[in-house]
Amino acid sequence: MSVTTERRTDIGPPHYEQFLHPIIKANYGKWKYHEGLKPGVFVHVAESGDSIYTVRAASPRLISTDFVRKLTALADKYSDGYLRFTSRNNVEFLLGNKDNIDPLIKELEEFTLVGGTGRSISNIVHTQGWVHCHSSATDASGLVKVVMDELAEYFTSMKLPHKLRLAVACCLNMCGAVHASDIAILGVHRTPPRIDHKNLPNLCEIPTTVASCPNNAVRPTSIEGRSTVKVDEDKCMYCGNCFTVCPAMPIADALNDGVSIWVGGKISNARTEPMFTKLAVPYIPNNPPRWPEVTDAVKNIVEVYAKNAKPYERMGEWINRIGWPKFFDLTGIEFTKYHLDDFRHAGTTYRRSLQNRY
Ligand code: SF4
Ligand code: SF4
Repeated sequence: MSVTTERRTDIGPPHYEQFLHPIIKANYGKWKYHEGLKPGVFVHVAESGDSIYTVRAASPRLISTDFVRKLTALADKYSDGYLRFTSRNNVEFLLGNKDNIDPLIKELEEFTLVGGTGRSISNIVHTQGWVHCHSSATDASGLVKVVMDELAEYFTSMKLPHKLRLAVACCLNMCGAVHASDIAILGVHRTPPRIDHKNLPNLCEIPTTVASCPNNAVRPTSIEGRSTVKVDEDKCMYCGNCFTVCPAMPIADALNDGVSIWVGGKISNARTEPMFTKLAVPYIPNNPPRWPEVTDAVKNIVEVYAKNAKPYERMGEWINRIGWPKFFDLTGIEFTKYHLDDFRHAGTTYRRSLQNRY
């Protein structure tokens, strides 16, 4: 591997190769097996006989400089300065020396949790929320904090049937992996954007605003001789795209915005195709700062899954085996008209058989 020397410009991020642990670099692509040793710890063994140990800890994603400094000091002390963040914002220390595992865990547990490997819940991947994004229907990091406070025991142990991946996206543009996670919390707007006709002609470019709507709901119009837009509310799906390009069309609504919960998604593996999440709970009002109704609903789904799924069955595989009617029975979630998929291209997702499994 000499990719680094072949790079001809300095555009883009530095090549990852220079950040690899020496043991990973020496054994790149030549791994024999890996195995979990205990919650939060696993080992990769190479064909050469080399081993590299990983210790995984939780991070709250939006992290302070103090937290980063604590992590880097521990990496310098125990893992030769090597650590990485996974796509779900778990922090992984890469250790060449097995004897450093327990002292590292002891120091990590003074300010965070160690776990998230094997049959557990790992960190929740999430989006920007009220902290940063203009179109959020709910908060992201706040929701993740309160949900993980409730589910921490499933992060630090491996007592679930299989791994359980959670995601939060604060609007249906879903920058988080809500379509492919076992349980997903998705912020939803429920009202169309409000148009500020006074400022819109000064703030927004009309053709771009019209083109921004995926459902053709935004149309050009004029009021008292001034160009502006109107919204066909029957076509609006409350996505907030128009607000992204036109700040005179705010969509956030303190009374009507809230949270929906989706279940059963996962990415593909060697045996199965990817599965997309499906709607479980259509709407729970925002109730910050601790969203007790959302944490209760997520915990209920986790506990029913933990009790009823077979070993090594993912959430979606379990639901497919028992059938959706049984899922609603077991979880006690009410089945409503909002669970019916009436999108005009939904034909391919309809159940086409009369068989029901209970
Ligand atoms: Fe913004 Fe929506 Fe992405 Fe959240 S999911 S960060 S609101 S675009
Ligand atoms: Fe169109 Fe979405 Fe704006 Fe509704 S919220 S008008 S669907 S871009």
